[in-house]
Amino acid sequence: MTLSAFHTHASFCHGANTAEEMVKKALSLGCPEIGFSCHSYMDVENDWCMTRDGTLKYKAEIERLKKEYSDRIKVYLGIEQDYFSPAFPEGYDYVIGSVHFVSKNGVLIPLDISAGDLKKAINELYDGDALALAEDYYETVSDVYNKTGCNIVGHIDLITKFEEKEKIFDTSSERYRRAALTAVDALMKKPVVFEINTGAISRGYRTSPYPEDFILDYIGEREGTFVISPDAHSTDTLLFGMKEAQELIKAKGYRYFLSMEEIVKK
Ligand SMILES: [Zn+2]
Ligand SMILES: [Zn+2]
Repeated sequence: MTLSAFHTHASFCHGANTAEEMVKKALSLGCPEIGFSCHSYMDVENDWCMTRDGTLKYKAEIERLKKEYSDRIKVYLGIEQDYFSPAFPEGYDYVIGSVHFVSKNGVLIPLDISAGDLKKAINELYDGDALALAEDYYETVSDVYNKTGCNIVGHIDLITKFEEKEKIFDTSSERYRRAALTAVDALMKKPVVFEINTGAISRGYRTSPYPEDFILDYIGEREGTFVISPDAHSTDTLLFGMKEAQELIKAKGYRYFLSMEEIVKK
């Protein structure tokens, strides 16, 4: 069975292609389904989220595509809801809950823009204690279901985006692991599935998907469920790295869902 992509961005946020181009690409690849998850509106200035108005247009366009393509592919209207977005997501088929910021002393620190920004924030706001930022991050992640009502937990260890090139966090330390696994424990009690997210591979930051093995194994061994996500920002990367990720979790014997129906039923 061909995989389907549920973590995708189109031109309503910062995706390179229109939603319809993404649907056509999914059709050409033989995907039975496709879901859209443009970035939720944020009050902070940025160039990657939908605007308030844009969100309405986005909803209308995905609903149009659902009907237009209903005889060929199932189209779902989702959203990648940031923890710090002002409005609770309403009217979506599914929600990906993601934490892209840590809040410290009234400042929202962006985690995935650049390694330089992240290191600067650690020095200025955490006295250089990167693990203290990691602890704040995972505490926020542990609450992401409560805050967003998500069906899918997005890239649970996003703070490791730059780790292969710029070692920032000691992810083998006890402090780091305790923080991460405490968040996983909290989320395992909720009706969510966890992403295996290949988006940082297609964009050249990483050679392996999120999450790191110790998190993946912790979830998998406790019979948590995964969904494989490309976090695609263009038609070129619609199913990027997903086959390989599927082979990986199949070999480990972990549970994963291929259809949106299974995900939202969880
Ligand atoms: Zn994200
Ligand atoms: Zn995304």
